[in-house]
Amino acid sequence: MNITLKNGPEKYYSTNGNSPEVSFKEALLKGLAPDGGLYLPFSFPLITPAELESFSGISYNEIAFIVLSKLIGKEINNDELKSICNDAYNFEVPLEKVTGRKYIMRLDQGPTASFKDFAARMMSRLMQYFLSINNQRLTILTATSGDTGSAVANAFYGLKNINVIILYPAGEVTEMQRKQMTTLKDNIRVIAIDGKFDDCQRLVKMAFLDRELSHLPLSSANSINIGRLLPQSVYYFYASSRLSENSEDKPIFSVPSGNFGNLMGGIIAGKMGLAIEKFIVSTNENDEVPLFLQTGNYKSIDPSINCISSAMNVGHPSNLARIVALYGGIMDEKGNIAKSPDFNKMRGDLYAVSVTDEETKISIAEVYKQFKILLEPHGAIAWHGLNKYLRSETGTDPEKQLCISLETAHPAKFPDELRRIINTDPPLPPALFGLEEKSENYFPMENNYSELKEFIQKNY
Ligand SMILES: *Cc1c(COP(=O)(O)O)cnc(C)c1O
Repeated sequence: MNITLKNGPEKYYSTNGNSPEVSFKEALLKGLAPDGGLYLPFSFPLITPAELESFSGISYNEIAFIVLSKLIGKEINNDELKSICNDAYNFEVPLEKVTGRKYIMRLDQGPTASFKDFAARMMSRLMQYFLSINNQRLTILTATSGDTGSAVANAFYGLKNINVIILYPAGEVTEMQRKQMTTLKDNIRVIAIDGKFDDCQRLVKMAFLDRELSHLPLSSANSINIGRLLPQSVYYFYASSRLSENSEDKPIFSVPSGNFGNLMGGIIAGKMGLAIEKFIVSTNENDEVPLFLQTGNYKSIDPSINCISSAMNVGHPSNLARIVALYGGIMDEKGNIAKSPDFNKMRGDLYAVSVTDEETKISIAEVYKQFKILLEPHGAIAWHGLNKYLRSETGTDPEKQLCISLETAHPAKFPDELRRIINTDPPLPPALFGLEEKSENYFPMENNYSELKEFIQKNY
Protein backbone atom coordinates (compact mmCIF):
# COMPACT_ATOMS: atom_id res chain seq x y z
CA MET A 1 0.00 0.00 0.00
CA ASN A 2 1.00 3.63 -0.40
CA ILE A 3 2.22 5.36 2.68
CA THR A 4 1.55 9.05 3.03
CA LEU A 5 4.87 10.51 4.07
CA LYS A 6 5.59 14.05 5.11
CA ASN A 7 8.03 15.88 2.88
CA GLY A 8 10.61 17.07 5.31
CA PRO A 9 12.18 15.52 8.36
CA GLU A 10 10.25 15.76 11.60
CA LYS A 11 11.71 18.43 13.92
CA TYR A 12 12.44 17.76 17.58
CA TYR A 13 12.40 20.26 20.47
CA SER A 14 13.66 20.10 24.07
CA THR A 15 11.12 19.91 26.92
CA ASN A 16 13.17 22.58 28.76
CA GLY A 17 12.66 24.96 25.87
CA ASN A 18 16.20 26.35 25.75
CA SER A 19 17.84 24.30 23.00
CA PRO A 20 17.74 24.69 19.24
CA GLU A 21 15.37 22.36 17.40
CA VAL A 22 17.08 19.37 15.80
CA SER A 23 16.46 16.61 13.28
CA PHE A 24 15.68 13.05 14.36
CA LYS A 25 19.26 12.04 13.64
CA GLU A 26 20.67 14.71 15.95
CA ALA A 27 18.18 13.91 18.71
CA LEU A 28 19.05 10.23 18.41
CA LEU A 29 22.82 10.71 18.51
CA LYS A 30 22.76 13.36 21.25
CA GLY A 31 20.34 11.65 23.65
CA LEU A 32 19.89 14.53 26.07
CA ALA A 33 19.30 18.09 24.82
CA PRO A 34 22.04 20.61 25.76
CA ASP A 35 19.66 22.40 28.18
CA GLY A 36 19.11 19.14 30.10
CA GLY A 37 15.65 18.64 28.58
CA LEU A 38 14.28 15.71 26.62
CA TYR A 39 13.59 15.68 22.90
CA LEU A 40 10.04 15.41 21.54
CA PRO A 41 8.73 15.94 18.01
CA PHE A 42 6.67 19.12 17.49
CA SER A 43 3.84 17.05 16.11
CA PHE A 44 2.96 13.42 15.63
CA PRO A 45 2.16 12.26 12.11
CA LEU A 46 -1.19 10.50 11.74
CA ILE A 47 -1.67 6.91 10.69
CA THR A 48 -4.71 7.13 8.42
CA PRO A 49 -7.81 4.99 9.14
CA ALA A 50 -7.10 3.01 5.95
CA GLU A 51 -3.56 2.31 7.10
CA LEU A 52 -4.81 1.30 10.55
CA GLU A 53 -7.25 -1.10 8.95
CA SER A 54 -4.49 -2.62 6.81
CA PHE A 55 -2.42 -3.43 9.91
CA SER A 56 -4.52 -6.51 10.68
CA GLY A 57 -3.20 -8.17 7.53
CA ILE A 58 0.49 -7.36 7.76
CA SER A 59 3.36 -8.54 9.96
CA TYR A 60 4.84 -6.87 13.03
CA ASN A 61 7.87 -5.75 11.00
CA GLU A 62 5.71 -4.16 8.35
CA ILE A 63 3.69 -2.27 10.97
CA ALA A 64 6.98 -1.15 12.54
CA PHE A 65 8.19 0.10 9.18
CA ILE A 66 5.06 2.17 8.49
CA VAL A 67 4.87 3.71 11.98
CA LEU A 68 8.60 4.51 12.15
CA SER A 69 8.84 5.81 8.59
CA LYS A 70 6.23 8.40 9.50
CA LEU A 71 8.01 9.42 12.68
CA ILE A 72 11.48 9.63 11.16
CA GLY A 73 10.39 10.97 7.77
CA LYS A 74 12.79 11.23 4.89
CA GLU A 75 15.93 11.22 7.00
CA ILE A 76 16.21 7.52 6.32
CA ASN A 77 15.76 5.72 3.06
CA ASN A 78 12.71 3.43 3.01
CA ASP A 79 14.49 0.28 1.89
CA GLU A 80 17.08 0.77 4.58
CA LEU A 81 14.43 1.24 7.28
CA LYS A 82 12.55 -1.82 6.04
CA SER A 83 15.61 -4.00 6.33
CA ILE A 84 16.39 -2.59 9.80
CA CYS A 85 12.84 -3.48 10.94
CA ASN A 86 13.18 -7.01 9.57
CA ASP A 87 16.53 -7.48 11.21
CA ALA A 88 15.52 -5.99 14.59
CA TYR A 89 12.20 -7.79 14.98
CA ASN A 90 12.93 -11.42 14.27
CA PHE A 91 10.96 -12.80 17.24
CA GLU A 92 7.35 -13.45 18.19
CA VAL A 93 5.00 -11.07 20.04
CA PRO A 94 2.47 -13.48 21.60
CA LEU A 95 -0.97 -12.28 22.64
CA GLU A 96 -2.12 -14.82 25.19
CA LYS A 97 -5.78 -15.02 26.08
CA VAL A 98 -6.40 -15.16 29.82
CA THR A 99 -10.20 -15.09 30.02
CA GLY A 100 -13.01 -13.46 28.02
CA ARG A 101 -11.49 -10.47 26.24
CA LYS A 102 -8.55 -10.11 28.61
CA TYR A 103 -5.13 -10.73 27.11
CA ILE A 104 -1.49 -10.70 28.11
CA MET A 105 0.88 -9.27 25.52
CA ARG A 106 4.22 -11.02 26.00
CA LEU A 107 7.04 -8.64 25.16
CA ASP A 108 9.60 -11.12 26.47
CA GLN A 109 10.61 -13.12 23.40
CA GLY A 110 13.60 -11.03 22.32
CA PRO A 111 17.24 -12.06 22.79
CA THR A 112 17.47 -10.82 26.39
CA ALA A 113 13.89 -11.80 27.29
CA SER A 114 12.85 -8.28 28.29
CA PHE A 115 10.68 -5.71 26.51
CA LYS A 116 13.73 -3.44 26.37
CA ASP A 117 14.86 -5.47 23.34
CA PHE A 118 12.18 -3.74 21.23
CA ALA A 119 13.71 -0.34 21.86
CA ALA A 120 17.39 -1.22 22.09
CA ARG A 121 17.47 -3.24 18.88
CA MET A 122 15.88 -0.47 16.83
CA MET A 123 17.86 2.35 18.44
CA SER A 124 21.21 0.61 17.92
CA ARG A 125 20.53 -0.09 14.26
CA LEU A 126 19.32 3.45 13.59
CA MET A 127 22.43 4.86 15.26
CA GLN A 128 24.67 2.58 13.23
CA TYR A 129 22.88 3.65 10.03
CA PHE A 130 23.29 7.38 10.67
CA LEU A 131 26.90 7.04 11.85
CA SER A 132 27.96 4.94 8.88
CA ILE A 133 26.89 7.62 6.38
CA ASN A 134 29.89 9.80 7.27
CA ASN A 135 31.87 7.04 8.90
CA GLN A 136 31.51 8.65 12.35
CA ARG A 137 32.12 6.82 15.60
CA LEU A 138 30.24 6.92 18.87
CA THR A 139 30.74 5.56 22.36
CA ILE A 140 27.66 4.66 24.35
CA LEU A 141 28.15 5.08 28.09
CA THR A 142 25.34 3.75 30.22
CA ALA A 143 24.54 2.69 33.77
CA THR A 144 22.31 -0.28 34.47
CA SER A 145 20.60 -2.01 37.33
CA GLY A 146 20.32 -5.10 35.13
CA ASP A 147 17.81 -5.20 32.29
CA THR A 148 18.85 -2.12 30.32
CA GLY A 149 22.48 -3.21 30.30
CA SER A 150 21.79 -6.65 28.93
CA ALA A 151 19.37 -5.39 26.25
CA VAL A 152 21.80 -2.64 25.21
CA ALA A 153 24.83 -4.94 25.21
CA ASN A 154 23.03 -7.47 23.07
CA ALA A 155 21.56 -4.89 20.68
CA PHE A 156 24.87 -3.05 20.03
CA TYR A 157 27.08 -6.12 19.95
CA GLY A 158 29.10 -6.30 16.76
CA LEU A 159 28.06 -2.90 15.34
CA LYS A 160 31.01 -1.38 13.48
CA ASN A 161 30.82 2.29 14.41
CA ILE A 162 29.80 2.03 18.05
CA ASN A 163 31.58 1.09 21.25
CA VAL A 164 29.65 0.47 24.44
CA ILE A 165 30.69 0.93 28.08
CA ILE A 166 28.24 -0.38 30.67
CA LEU A 167 28.54 0.28 34.40
CA TYR A 168 26.69 -1.99 36.80
CA PRO A 169 26.65 -2.23 40.61
CA ALA A 170 28.84 -5.26 41.38
CA GLY A 171 26.64 -6.93 43.96
CA GLU A 172 23.23 -5.90 42.68
CA VAL A 173 22.55 -7.70 39.42
CA THR A 174 21.61 -11.35 39.07
CA GLU A 175 24.09 -13.82 37.67
CA MET A 176 21.96 -14.20 34.55
CA GLN A 177 21.84 -10.45 33.98
CA ARG A 178 25.59 -10.15 34.45
CA LYS A 179 26.36 -12.98 32.06
CA GLN A 180 24.10 -11.47 29.41
CA MET A 181 26.47 -8.47 29.41
CA THR A 182 29.87 -9.92 30.19
CA THR A 183 29.96 -12.89 27.80
CA LEU A 184 29.71 -10.76 24.64
CA LYS A 185 33.08 -8.87 24.66
CA ASP A 186 34.33 -7.32 21.37
CA ASN A 187 32.84 -3.77 21.23
CA ILE A 188 30.99 -4.23 24.56
CA ARG A 189 33.02 -3.33 27.67
CA VAL A 190 31.46 -3.95 31.04
CA ILE A 191 32.58 -2.34 34.32
CA ALA A 192 31.60 -3.71 37.72
CA ILE A 193 31.44 -0.77 40.11
CA ASP A 194 31.97 -1.39 43.80
CA GLY A 195 28.84 0.57 44.67
CA LYS A 196 25.11 0.95 44.06
CA PHE A 197 23.12 1.69 40.93
CA ASP A 198 22.90 5.37 41.92
CA ASP A 199 26.72 5.48 42.06
CA CYS A 200 26.92 4.09 38.53
CA GLN A 201 24.49 6.74 37.34
CA ARG A 202 26.44 9.47 39.09
CA LEU A 203 29.72 8.34 37.48
CA VAL A 204 28.11 8.29 34.03
CA LYS A 205 26.73 11.79 34.54
CA MET A 206 30.16 13.07 35.63
CA ALA A 207 31.70 11.71 32.44
CA PHE A 208 29.05 13.43 30.31
CA LEU A 209 29.74 16.76 32.04
CA ASP A 210 33.55 16.40 32.00
CA ARG A 211 35.09 18.96 29.62
CA GLU A 212 38.24 16.92 29.28
CA LEU A 213 36.15 14.18 27.69
CA SER A 214 34.05 16.52 25.55
CA HIS A 215 36.15 15.78 22.45
CA LEU A 216 34.81 12.22 22.58
CA PRO A 217 31.50 11.51 20.93
CA LEU A 218 29.71 10.08 23.99
CA SER A 219 26.01 9.26 24.06
CA SER A 220 23.60 7.47 26.31
CA ALA A 221 21.28 4.56 25.75
CA ASN A 222 18.88 5.32 28.59
CA SER A 223 15.21 5.96 27.94
CA ILE A 224 15.92 9.68 27.83
CA ASN A 225 16.79 8.91 24.20
CA ILE A 226 13.88 9.52 21.82
CA GLY A 227 15.23 6.64 19.73
CA ARG A 228 14.20 4.27 22.49
CA LEU A 229 10.67 5.58 22.77
CA LEU A 230 9.43 5.66 19.19
CA PRO A 231 9.87 1.89 18.60
CA GLN A 232 7.81 1.22 21.72
CA SER A 233 4.70 2.66 20.07
CA VAL A 234 4.64 -0.15 17.52
CA TYR A 235 3.43 -3.01 19.73
CA TYR A 236 0.38 -1.01 20.76
CA PHE A 237 -0.63 -0.77 17.09
CA TYR A 238 0.17 -4.44 16.64
CA ALA A 239 -1.91 -5.67 19.60
CA SER A 240 -4.87 -3.57 18.58
CA SER A 241 -4.64 -4.75 14.95
CA ARG A 242 -4.84 -8.36 16.10
CA LEU A 243 -7.49 -8.06 18.82
CA SER A 244 -9.81 -5.11 18.10
CA GLU A 245 -12.92 -6.18 16.22
CA ASN A 246 -13.59 -2.83 14.58
CA SER A 247 -12.57 0.80 14.84
CA GLU A 248 -15.01 1.37 17.72
CA ASP A 249 -13.45 -1.42 19.75
CA LYS A 250 -10.97 0.49 21.89
CA PRO A 251 -8.57 -1.49 24.09
CA ILE A 252 -7.50 -0.73 27.61
CA PHE A 253 -3.73 -1.18 27.99
CA SER A 254 -2.19 -1.85 31.39
CA VAL A 255 1.46 -0.80 31.47
CA PRO A 256 3.90 -1.74 34.27
CA SER A 257 5.86 1.47 34.69
CA GLY A 258 9.18 2.64 36.13
CA ASN A 259 10.73 5.34 33.97
CA PHE A 260 7.53 5.59 31.90
CA GLY A 261 9.17 4.94 28.53
CA ASN A 262 6.80 2.08 27.80
CA LEU A 263 3.78 4.26 28.62
CA MET A 264 5.21 7.03 26.42
CA GLY A 265 5.19 4.55 23.52
CA GLY A 266 1.48 3.99 24.11
CA ILE A 267 0.72 7.69 24.38
CA ILE A 268 2.58 8.29 21.11
CA ALA A 269 0.50 5.56 19.43
CA GLY A 270 -2.62 7.35 20.67
CA LYS A 271 -1.35 10.69 19.32
CA MET A 272 -0.79 9.01 15.95
CA GLY A 273 -4.41 7.96 15.77
CA LEU A 274 -4.72 4.60 17.54
CA ALA A 275 -8.06 4.40 19.38
CA ILE A 276 -7.39 3.60 23.05
CA GLU A 277 -9.98 3.50 25.82
CA LYS A 278 -7.57 4.05 28.68
CA PHE A 279 -4.08 3.38 29.97
CA ILE A 280 -3.76 1.72 33.35
CA VAL A 281 -0.49 3.08 34.68
CA SER A 282 0.66 0.43 37.13
CA THR A 283 3.62 1.14 39.41
CA ASN A 284 5.10 -0.73 42.34
CA GLU A 285 5.41 0.87 45.79
CA ASN A 286 7.30 3.77 44.21
CA ASP A 287 4.02 5.66 43.88
CA GLU A 288 5.23 9.18 43.04
CA VAL A 289 3.32 9.25 39.75
CA PRO A 290 -0.02 7.90 41.04
CA LEU A 291 0.22 10.54 43.80
CA PHE A 292 1.12 13.23 41.27
CA LEU A 293 -2.02 12.44 39.25
CA GLN A 294 -4.16 12.34 42.37
CA THR A 295 -2.93 15.50 44.05
CA GLY A 296 -1.36 17.57 41.28
CA ASN A 297 1.80 17.86 43.37
CA TYR A 298 4.99 16.09 42.44
CA LYS A 299 7.44 14.72 44.96
CA SER A 300 10.16 12.27 43.95
CA ILE A 301 11.07 9.34 46.22
CA ASP A 302 14.72 9.33 47.25
CA PRO A 303 16.11 6.74 47.69
CA SER A 304 13.65 4.64 45.72
CA ILE A 305 11.90 1.75 47.46
CA ASN A 306 13.28 -1.72 46.81
CA CYS A 307 10.48 -3.91 45.41
CA ILE A 308 10.60 -7.37 43.82
CA SER A 309 9.76 -5.76 40.46
CA SER A 310 13.32 -4.44 40.46
CA ALA A 311 13.27 -2.83 37.01
CA MET A 312 10.56 -0.49 38.25
CA ASN A 313 12.30 0.76 41.40
CA VAL A 314 12.34 4.33 40.19
CA GLY A 315 11.72 7.28 42.50
CA HIS A 316 12.01 9.98 39.85
CA PRO A 317 10.99 8.75 36.38
CA SER A 318 13.08 10.19 33.56
CA ASN A 319 10.16 10.36 31.12
CA LEU A 320 7.73 12.21 33.36
CA ALA A 321 8.81 15.54 31.85
CA ARG A 322 7.76 14.24 28.45
CA ILE A 323 4.35 13.12 29.66
CA VAL A 324 3.81 16.48 31.33
CA ALA A 325 4.82 18.18 28.04
CA LEU A 326 2.35 16.14 26.01
CA TYR A 327 -0.41 17.37 28.35
CA GLY A 328 0.60 20.99 27.89
CA GLY A 329 2.81 21.45 30.98
CA ILE A 330 6.49 22.11 31.60
CA MET A 331 8.58 20.11 34.08
CA ASP A 332 12.37 20.28 34.34
CA GLU A 333 14.73 17.39 34.97
CA LYS A 334 14.57 17.89 38.72
CA GLY A 335 10.78 17.60 38.72
CA ASN A 336 10.00 21.31 39.20
CA ILE A 337 6.83 22.32 37.41
CA ALA A 338 6.95 25.65 35.57
CA LYS A 339 3.54 25.15 34.00
CA SER A 340 0.84 22.73 35.10
CA PRO A 341 -0.30 20.07 32.67
CA ASP A 342 -4.02 19.58 31.96
CA PHE A 343 -4.73 17.26 34.90
CA ASN A 344 -8.35 16.64 33.93
CA LYS A 345 -7.32 15.37 30.53
CA MET A 346 -4.52 13.32 32.08
CA ARG A 347 -6.86 11.73 34.60
CA GLY A 348 -9.29 10.94 31.81
CA ASP A 349 -6.64 9.10 29.78
CA LEU A 350 -4.57 7.56 32.56
CA TYR A 351 -5.69 5.56 35.58
CA ALA A 352 -2.67 5.28 37.85
CA VAL A 353 -2.37 2.64 40.53
CA SER A 354 0.41 1.63 42.91
CA VAL A 355 0.71 -2.09 43.68
CA THR A 356 2.47 -3.47 46.76
CA ASP A 357 4.88 -6.42 46.76
CA GLU A 358 2.28 -8.40 48.68
CA GLU A 359 -0.37 -7.73 46.01
CA THR A 360 2.17 -8.57 43.28
CA LYS A 361 2.83 -11.99 44.80
CA ILE A 362 -0.89 -12.67 45.28
CA SER A 363 -1.49 -11.80 41.62
CA ILE A 364 1.21 -14.18 40.43
CA ALA A 365 -0.29 -16.96 42.56
CA GLU A 366 -3.90 -16.29 41.53
CA VAL A 367 -3.28 -16.06 37.79
CA TYR A 368 -1.32 -19.27 37.93
CA LYS A 369 -3.94 -21.10 39.98
CA GLN A 370 -6.96 -19.85 38.01
CA PHE A 371 -5.62 -19.80 34.47
CA LYS A 372 -2.30 -21.73 34.53
CA ILE A 373 -0.61 -18.59 33.23
CA LEU A 374 2.87 -17.61 34.40
CA LEU A 375 3.55 -13.96 35.16
CA GLU A 376 6.72 -12.44 36.60
CA PRO A 377 6.56 -9.51 39.07
CA HIS A 378 6.42 -6.66 36.50
CA GLY A 379 3.67 -8.23 34.42
CA ALA A 380 1.79 -9.17 37.59
CA ILE A 381 1.71 -5.51 38.61
CA ALA A 382 0.07 -4.61 35.29
CA TRP A 383 -2.45 -7.43 35.69
CA HIS A 384 -3.28 -6.37 39.24
CA GLY A 385 -3.70 -2.72 38.20
CA LEU A 386 -6.03 -3.71 35.38
CA ASN A 387 -8.28 -5.74 37.65
CA LYS A 388 -8.37 -3.00 40.23
CA TYR A 389 -9.57 -0.60 37.57
CA LEU A 390 -12.22 -2.99 36.26
CA ARG A 391 -13.55 -3.50 39.80
CA SER A 392 -13.69 0.21 40.54
CA GLU A 393 -15.10 1.31 37.20
CA THR A 394 -18.74 0.25 37.20
CA GLY A 395 -19.32 1.92 33.81
CA THR A 396 -17.11 -0.64 32.06
CA ASP A 397 -18.50 -4.03 31.11
CA PRO A 398 -15.63 -6.43 31.89
CA GLU A 399 -17.09 -9.02 29.51
CA LYS A 400 -17.18 -6.71 26.50
CA GLN A 401 -14.18 -4.49 27.13
CA LEU A 402 -10.97 -5.51 25.35
CA CYS A 403 -8.08 -5.41 27.85
CA ILE A 404 -4.40 -5.94 27.12
CA SER A 405 -1.96 -6.28 30.00
CA LEU A 406 1.73 -5.97 29.16
CA GLU A 407 4.22 -8.62 30.35
CA THR A 408 7.65 -7.01 30.15
CA ALA A 409 10.07 -9.80 31.12
CA HIS A 410 10.21 -13.56 30.83
CA PRO A 411 9.22 -15.39 34.05
CA ALA A 412 12.43 -17.44 33.78
CA LYS A 413 14.37 -14.31 34.70
CA PHE A 414 12.87 -14.53 38.20
CA PRO A 415 13.29 -18.20 39.14
CA ASP A 416 13.74 -17.68 42.90
CA GLU A 417 10.67 -15.50 43.24
CA LEU A 418 8.46 -17.87 41.25
CA ARG A 419 9.70 -20.88 43.15
CA ARG A 420 8.82 -19.17 46.43
CA ILE A 421 5.37 -18.03 45.29
CA ILE A 422 4.03 -20.90 43.17
CA ASN A 423 6.69 -23.56 43.60
CA THR A 424 7.31 -23.76 39.86
CA ASP A 425 10.44 -23.53 37.77
CA PRO A 426 9.61 -21.52 34.67
CA PRO A 427 11.22 -23.10 31.59
CA LEU A 428 14.21 -21.16 30.26
CA PRO A 429 13.48 -19.53 26.87
CA PRO A 430 15.91 -20.44 24.07
CA ALA A 431 17.26 -16.87 24.21
CA LEU A 432 18.78 -17.59 27.62
CA PHE A 433 20.23 -21.05 26.87
CA GLY A 434 23.92 -21.70 27.11
CA LEU A 435 24.95 -18.63 29.12
CA GLU A 436 26.41 -20.80 31.88
CA GLU A 437 29.19 -22.18 29.72
CA LYS A 438 30.35 -18.94 28.14
CA SER A 439 33.40 -17.16 29.55
CA GLU A 440 33.02 -13.68 31.03
CA ASN A 441 35.06 -10.55 30.77
CA TYR A 442 34.58 -7.44 32.89
CA PHE A 443 36.59 -4.75 34.65
CA PRO A 444 36.18 -4.37 38.42
CA MET A 445 36.44 -0.73 39.49
CA GLU A 446 36.29 1.33 42.69
CA ASN A 447 33.39 3.73 43.08
CA ASN A 448 35.70 6.52 41.99
CA TYR A 449 35.43 8.87 39.03
CA SER A 450 39.12 9.29 38.25
CA GLU A 451 39.45 5.57 37.60
CA LEU A 452 36.56 5.63 35.14
CA LYS A 453 37.97 8.70 33.43
CA GLU A 454 41.35 7.09 33.01
CA PHE A 455 39.70 3.99 31.58
CA ILE A 456 37.81 6.04 29.01
CA GLN A 457 40.87 8.11 28.07
CA LYS A 458 43.03 5.06 27.67
CA ASN A 459 40.59 3.02 25.64
CA TYR A 460 38.77 5.49 23.39
C1 LIG B 1 12.46 -1.36 32.31
C2 LIG B 1 11.39 -2.29 32.70
C3 LIG B 1 10.11 -1.83 33.10
C4 LIG B 1 9.77 -0.37 33.19
O1 LIG B 1 9.64 0.24 31.94
P1 LIG B 1 9.67 1.82 31.83
O2 LIG B 1 9.66 2.09 30.38
O3 LIG B 1 10.92 2.28 32.51
O4 LIG B 1 8.44 2.32 32.53
C5 LIG B 1 9.15 -2.78 33.39
N1 LIG B 1 9.42 -4.09 33.37
C6 LIG B 1 10.63 -4.56 33.03
C7 LIG B 1 10.88 -6.03 33.05
C8 LIG B 1 11.66 -3.69 32.67
O5 LIG B 1 12.86 -4.17 32.34
